Amino acid sequence: MEFRGNVIVKGVIECETGLHIGGNKDIFEIGGIDAPVIRDPITKLPYIPGSSLKGRMRFLLEWETGRVNHENGKPHNCSSEEEAKECPVCRVFGISAAENLKVGPTRLIVRDAHPTEGTKKEWEALDTGLLYTEWKKENYIDRITSKADPRDMERVPKGSEFEFEMVYSIYDMGDGGARDVEFFRYLRTAMKLLEDSYLGGSGSRGYGKVKFKDIKVVFRSRDDYMEGRDGEKLGEDMTLDGMGEVVNRLRELVERSGR
Ligand SMILES: [Zn+2]
Repeated sequence: MEFRGNVIVKGVIECETGLHIGGNKDIFEIGGIDAPVIRDPITKLPYIPGSSLKGRMRFLLEWETGRVNHENGKPHNCSSEEEAKECPVCRVFGISAAENLKVGPTRLIVRDAHPTEGTKKEWEALDTGLLYTEWKKENYIDRITSKADPRDMERVPKGSEFEFEMVYSIYDMGDGGARDVEFFRYLRTAMKLLEDSYLGGSGSRGYGKVKFKDIKVVFRSRDDYMEGRDGEKLGEDMTLDGMGEVVNRLRELVERSGR
């Protein structure tokens, strides 16, 4: 198995509705809110953890590819090496370490997404009594007692933007890296599924509708790393639709990187 390079996908996540990714109430108790959002412990700014983004995309791709584990509700994991190699969920999003299958490193890294400068300014101007956020009272029903359980949900306001970065690695597993190039499309599929679903909590109440925009894709080959180069731009200012068009150029560059 040989490393061929990384595809770096960057851009902006726009919240088309309020976003609630739960934080730790004990640490982030602000104004006695019942359900606080997760914040950076240093800056106190809300952010989107890479693990939330990746976990949600993995889950949606499990459904899309018919790999949901209905028996125990645990995340899908292929049980054999042969299976896992051809499985976009395991190959791209990773497999639990306990399974110990030789499909190579998890192809996808998703970094934490932090607010853009513009969004930080907008948050600073908010007058909601909370720091950088807003809140809404949501009425939950206790499933056991059927009693109303109103909760103050803290959320990142609609229109907020976060800068995201994902790194997709390409390995030659005796195929010149062709399989990983082909499986790159599942990243876009998962992003598209996320746009039509939701991120974070209370999705059924309309929270967490997000959109990927200003997408920029760069391929940085093994040689680029050796020479300290930035790599080749495959596209910029794209939407998810445009992201599909970079695959042919990516295939060329990966083939060239093996020579
Ligand atoms: Zn699998």
